[in-house]
Amino acid sequence: MSYLNDEETFLVKTVRDFIDREVKPSVQEVEHANEYPEKWIEQMKQIGIYGLAVPEEYGGSPVSMPCYVQVTEELARGWMSLSGAMGGHTVVAKLLVLFGTEEQKAKYLPRLATGEIRATMALTEPGGGSDLQAMTTTAKRDGDDLVISGAKTWITNARRSGLIALLCKTDPTATPRHKGISVVLVEHGPGLTVSRDLPSSGTRVSSRVS
Ligand SMILES: Cc1cc2nc3c(=O)[nH]c(=O)nc-3n(C[C@H](O)[C@H](O)[C@H](O)COP(=O)(O)OP(=O)(O)OC[C@H]3O[C@@H](n4cnc5c(N)ncnc54)[C@H](O)[C@@H]3O)c2cc1C
Repeated sequence: MSYLNDEETFLVKTVRDFIDREVKPSVQEVEHANEYPEKWIEQMKQIGIYGLAVPEEYGGSPVSMPCYVQVTEELARGWMSLSGAMGGHTVVAKLLVLFGTEEQKAKYLPRLATGEIRATMALTEPGGGSDLQAMTTTAKRDGDDLVISGAKTWITNARRSGLIALLCKTDPTATPRHKGISVVLVEHGPGLTVSRDLPSSGTRVSSRVS
């Protein structure tokens, strides 16, 4: 029994063909050269992979969860870096769809849908990942500004993303602790440094950001 409609079946086949034709033949070379897969990211944009969680009204082509899973499987079959490059992006797109203001949706979703800007989520810190409540990054109001202090690590695509959904404490004294945690939308600019790319096997799109 197939869970996918005809369009979704075609999409999965398109991704499968892309992986077999374009990625598989040279993936080891790209992995060992530690290159950013610019060409493949462009091809993923053309296929529409970055808009799979964005509503049509914002320029996306949303698909069912089984279809999304199969697209992810196909990308990861070729190279885990490619599934990583769209995974965090899709989480942030979904976050905006569910919880964003109209202004945030209008500003980001159309460009996320095409992949013109790619998004990343920044949760993990050098002090640990699973226990998010123990994070030390803070965002404090200073007039109209929000001053963010802290460091994150293992942030997939940090260097190349145009939008970072940053998890931080807006009320470090809150009890329970998770009540004082917020997601802040951050763009690259003065004060944000991506310090280095982490050497990892099969997932060379992770960076450190602080
Ligand atoms: C390739 C890659 C890409 C990543 N991309 C991102 C990203 O884009 N954004 C981001 O924010 N993070 C990213 N991460 C970080 C990832 O989310 C963290 O590695 C993960 O949350 C685990 O955190 P940790 O490595 O600090 O391990 P720890 O939290 O220190 O855990 C270590 C071990 O202890 C276990 N453990 C922890 N707490 C408990 C408990 N209470 N009870 C029992 N066992 C426990 C864990 O299961 C694990 O086996 C990435 C990691 C990798 C490897």
